[in-house]
Amino acid sequence: MEKSHQHDLLRDKLDSYRLLVQEVRDYAIFLLDLQGNVNSWNEGAERIKGYRADEIIGKPFSLFYPKQEIENGKPFKNLAVALRDGRFEDEGWRIRKDGSRFWASVIMTRIQDDRGKVIGFSKITRDLTEKKEAEDAIRRSEARFRLLVSGVKDYAIFMLDPEGKITSWNEGAERIKGYRVEEIIGKHFSIFYPEEDKAKDKPNDELKKALQHGRFEDEGWRIRKDGSRFWADAVITCIRDAAGEVIGFSKVTRDLTERKAAENEIRKMNVDLERRVKERTAELQAANEALKQRTKEAEEANRLKSQFVSNVSHELRTPLNAIIGYTYLIGDLCREAGEEQRTALEGIERNAGDLLQLINGVLDLSKIEAGKISVERGEVEMAGLIKDLVENMGRLTEGRPVRVEYKVAPDLPLIESDVGKIKQILVNLLSNAIKFTPEGRVTMEAKASPEKGGIEVAVQDTGIGIKREALPKIFEAFYQSDADSTREFGGVGLGLRIVKDLVDLLQGEIRVESEHGKGSTFTLFLPYRLY
Ligand code: ADP
Repeated sequence: MEKSHQHDLLRDKLDSYRLLVQEVRDYAIFLLDLQGNVNSWNEGAERIKGYRADEIIGKPFSLFYPKQEIENGKPFKNLAVALRDGRFEDEGWRIRKDGSRFWASVIMTRIQDDRGKVIGFSKITRDLTEKKEAEDAIRRSEARFRLLVSGVKDYAIFMLDPEGKITSWNEGAERIKGYRVEEIIGKHFSIFYPEEDKAKDKPNDELKKALQHGRFEDEGWRIRKDGSRFWADAVITCIRDAAGEVIGFSKVTRDLTERKAAENEIRKMNVDLERRVKERTAELQAANEALKQRTKEAEEANRLKSQFVSNVSHELRTPLNAIIGYTYLIGDLCREAGEEQRTALEGIERNAGDLLQLINGVLDLSKIEAGKISVERGEVEMAGLIKDLVENMGRLTEGRPVRVEYKVAPDLPLIESDVGKIKQILVNLLSNAIKFTPEGRVTMEAKASPEKGGIEVAVQDTGIGIKREALPKIFEAFYQSDADSTREFGGVGLGLRIVKDLVDLLQGEIRVESEHGKGSTFTLFLPYRLY
């Protein structure tokens, strides 16, 4: 009787809410009787929990709880709290009809009749699964992030509250700055700045700038716990919540002391290097100037010398030619002269001839060396030249048993060069070969040398040869390999020197091979054309 009275009252109350509640879709809104049995059911309840009204009305509300919690008596403990306090609020897993879970936010409220007697409970449940999942995801990522940050060793990463007090601290911060978490949390971050920066209020300035621009980066000295300085690169970032309210700052600091030291070292080295390069350049310039001056002086001296030599030679040549002329004249006039006189005259003739040769040589050499000789380019037909030379000079063997021959490759090409100078070179080589060959053979041989881009003319003899130690010197002026042979063969020691200079003028090369007592070979190379 008592019980059915309660039910009636409850139903009356319920009627007044029913229409209002029935249509709500986003909330499960339903009533429980004192025993916790479901008494009403709205559309939201059906949508969220999956039961239709006729399936669930009269069933205990514990059906909505996970098995574990039913076993723990949780549903009725919650109901007891609502009964005692008038209201019970909870978030937790609940079970749908199909057995799936959802994260529910639940408010249970005690319902009393007019006389204050508890007649049941209203229950409003919201499905917060999505929100819960999103929150969990955030929480997980935050946890991961915290873990990551806390483990970073190379960067001090920490947070400041809006006033600049430290609220978090990672391993890198401890390593770089020397403070442990418990000593630093709550301290103002200006503790890391040198006195002079603090005096200028630099720490707060930086916060202001970060606040203004969202981010502020700076390089400068910072102080470790032990008072030592380090060169830091620091980035302060302002952090705001979704509403745009500043909730603090993150600060990432890197210790660049080593880099700074290295940079300084490099800078110093660069300065040093620059200074040394400058000094050296100045030295070189001075040396260069001095050299230029000396070269100028030397050139001038050389020019004067050549001029002097050429003047003297000219002056000597005139009287010498006269002497030679008069000698011939005396020879003609004194046909009847005795043996002794003739020998004396011949001596004068021979010596005057040598002297003329010497003077001509000196004149040639001084002209070449003064740069007064120019190359007269033209086409040179070597085969003909060699043939003429050998035929004319072959007679100079003075009755000695010496054969003078030539060999010219049939395909020998024409070359571009200076025929007069080539002739002078070859006359020199050939007359030396004949002169220094008491008996045997002298051969002039010409062939093309395509790999070197020119032709080669070898003058070979089977004469006295040249001593090994003399070989490197024979192209020097006035060098004669041995005095005895010179006395025997005549000559002044200028021929090869002139040859060498002429070969250089013709952009060629000359080399010599010789074996003392067996003969010599002088090989001349001339390019196909001059550049
Ligand atoms: P010289 O007027 O004395 O011949 P050169 O300059 O022509 O002067 O030659 C220098 C020296 O080189 C000669 O004195 C000689 O000793 C040596 N010489 C040159 N050609 C030959 C050669 N074909 N055989 C041996 N010795 C040579």
